[in-house]
Amino acid sequence: MAKKCFTFSVLFCLSAFIYAQSIEDKLVDRLVEYAQIYTQSEYDVDEVPSSQCQFGLALVLADELENLGAQNVKVDEHSYVYATIPGNVKNAPTLFISAHLDTSPDLDLQGRTPKPIVHEYTGGNLKINENLILTPEKNKFLADAAGGRVITTDGETLLGGDDKAGMSVVMTLAETLLTNKDIPHGDIRVIFTPDEEIGNSTKYLTKKKIAADFGLVLDSHGFGRIVVENFNATDFTFTIKTPSAGHPGYSSNVPPLNIATNFVSKFPEALASYNSSGKDGYLSYYKTKAVSSNEYVVYGRIRSFELNEMQLYKKMLLSWAQETAKQYNLDYITVINGKVNGSSESDASVTLNMKDSYFNSKEVLKNYPTNYSLIEQAYQKAGVQMLAESGRGGSDAGDITYLGIPTYNMFAGSHNEHSADEWVSSKQMLASYNVALNYIKLMGQQDRDAMLKEGNPNYIPQIPNLDMKRLEKVYDKISVKYGNTFSNFK
Ligand SMILES: [Zn+2]
Repeated sequence: MAKKCFTFSVLFCLSAFIYAQSIEDKLVDRLVEYAQIYTQSEYDVDEVPSSQCQFGLALVLADELENLGAQNVKVDEHSYVYATIPGNVKNAPTLFISAHLDTSPDLDLQGRTPKPIVHEYTGGNLKINENLILTPEKNKFLADAAGGRVITTDGETLLGGDDKAGMSVVMTLAETLLTNKDIPHGDIRVIFTPDEEIGNSTKYLTKKKIAADFGLVLDSHGFGRIVVENFNATDFTFTIKTPSAGHPGYSSNVPPLNIATNFVSKFPEALASYNSSGKDGYLSYYKTKAVSSNEYVVYGRIRSFELNEMQLYKKMLLSWAQETAKQYNLDYITVINGKVNGSSESDASVTLNMKDSYFNSKEVLKNYPTNYSLIEQAYQKAGVQMLAESGRGGSDAGDITYLGIPTYNMFAGSHNEHSADEWVSSKQMLASYNVALNYIKLMGQQDRDAMLKEGNPNYIPQIPNLDMKRLEKVYDKISVKYGNTFSNFK
């Protein structure tokens, strides 16, 4: 009996091994194929897609999905690809899985198509060319890639593993689900978006078009990484209008440039973006513009993971703006999320215009604990260490979460994005595939209504009222770190 069991388990392990191997091959083959299709997006183009070549890959993917048996396959006028993999269980939530079509315009390819090279990697240094060598010392997850394949280019172009590794994972998941009908799962929506690298990928997405309850974007770097939150963001402008500056030899009017300089001098260096990292927020100006000799604009950003910290920075800005108005005897106008306070007709004024741009996805995601626990279980079952991280920017997943579809952004096995030493690990693509497949299976066992009832998908975070006590505490934390005191701005 014991012998039989042994034989059985060996056979079982062997078949699992062969199965895993073949999925890994498929992932590599797809990455090599997609990487050779040129899809660089272009900065400063408002139309989506910014480059027509993205349609080329969109059509390849749509064709492949159709051949695999996906339903409602569609490429729309902006090159978004949509498809449905019908579920085989009842009442489960619908999940969408997604990657982006474009590759980064940061590295000029001069029209060259990336030429992927597949290395059998056994560990140690990996030579891309005479000048480019990947070392485990400088590449945190390279050692983990040993025993599998590492895909690079010849070092002349980027690879575009961002996000073609994610795309390979999504397409291989689609193939698995469409060809193995015995895997229980709910409806799956497959979506590919254009122009992610230039910040336009969610421009034409709507909840109705996505048509899912929860989402997983395969577009994060590293190995095991999952982005569980992003910044809250408010952008601001500070506009100074003065009566004509007059002849410099005779006029005593202060030119708007000097007033702008005075205003920006109030910003503590310690809170600048370049002094902020990890979980710190920042309050920074980044550009000034002369509209005319009488009008000057300062542009800036407020970023933080915490809404209370956002409030503190807003309060600081408001007090500096008011102080500036007083000092130069100008009208004080505020525009907060479009709401005007003060006379906008005044031609001797300062106007602080603050607009909330996006919110931390955590504010919504935290209301869906079951969804988060499914992600944790999916990692556990795949034997992959989950690295929950905070994204120091906005994100697709964040935008989609605020469309009313709680969405996480997960690793897909690519590294050194946007550069010529970009590399993708076949083992890590496979790990991404395994986690995602587990998540799909676990989602298939849930009751849609029960999962959705946990939170409100149309929830917009209520910014807390200014609680000076709380703010003082937040500020004290900052003071300890940077040596400022709360009374500096009060
Ligand atoms: Zn990407």
